[in-house]
Amino acid sequence: MHDHLLTPEQRAVRDEARAFARDVPRRLLLDMDAERVRYPREYVKEAAARNLLGLRFPKEYGGRGLGWASEILAIEEVGVLGTSLGCLYSLPSIVGEAIHRFGTEDQKKRYLRPTLEGKLMTAEALTEPRGGSDFFGTTTTARREGDTFVLSGQKRFVVGAEGADYFLVYARTDPDAAPHKGISAFLVDRGPGVEVAHVYGLMGTRGGGTGRLVFRDARVPAENLIGRLNGGAEVFYRMMVPERLTSAAG
Ligand SMILES: Cc1cc2nc3c(=O)[nH]c(=O)nc-3n(C[C@H](O)[C@H](O)[C@H](O)COP(=O)(O)OP(=O)(O)OC[C@H]3O[C@@H](n4cnc5c(N)ncnc54)[C@H](O)[C@@H]3O)c2cc1C
Repeated sequence: MHDHLLTPEQRAVRDEARAFARDVPRRLLLDMDAERVRYPREYVKEAAARNLLGLRFPKEYGGRGLGWASEILAIEEVGVLGTSLGCLYSLPSIVGEAIHRFGTEDQKKRYLRPTLEGKLMTAEALTEPRGGSDFFGTTTTARREGDTFVLSGQKRFVVGAEGADYFLVYARTDPDAAPHKGISAFLVDRGPGVEVAHVYGLMGTRGGGTGRLVFRDARVPAENLIGRLNGGAEVFYRMMVPERLTSAAG
């Protein structure tokens, strides 16, 4: 963005993000590219320690209460580090949007705040082995059993899967409804039934923990549903705002 269009506050944030990017050791980039580092947790924690994650979220959840422009300025700087580090920097913003916009107060306290503080790593899981463009054709299912949903299915190309403590996952909850009316969004903790099955030998974007997820009857507490049951489409559309903005800027 052109300097003369920025406020002093925006320039300061940009400079902080630039300093953060400059301080990332060259060795880390080389080690990630060679896949000696599979997930740079310390890098995400350092961004959090500098209060540079999810800048637009309110301070009470660990953000700075700044605008979209500040966040985009920061990702423009961090993007020089490459797609892996750019994506990992953006994930709290992307997953955070779903939680902040649709989550309960309890979900914001348990997931959003620790994510922006660098205590929990996150990833988004929407693409499936059958293809990612047709999001509404998702075949991962979640069936209700008492106080839990039981997830079955697979996701792929999930950046950060190797290191994530929890995932934002979209699954079909009503097989009989129209495709866009039968999907729900969940916060799924890494744990029993959640397998990171494969890390790809990618041509690029290496070292960012990209993996395939397999859900084998993974039990997710009903309180981890994000938004309303079968309301996954509205979560998805909203989440795609920072998803696309950060992809374009980074
Ligand atoms: C850098 C990067 C990071 C990513 N991170 C994540 C992540 O963190 N989590 C996650 O879940 N996913 C992630 N993805 C995956 C991404 O969402 C998918 O790659 C994308 O949705 C496309 O899906 P696909 O690769 O399966 O391609 P496909 O859907 O199989 O499409 C292949 C090709 O066919 C074309 N095509 C598809 N359908 C049609 C049609 N009906 N008519 C005409 N042409 C069609 C497409 O345009 C494309 O050129 C990431 C991808 C990249 C590149």
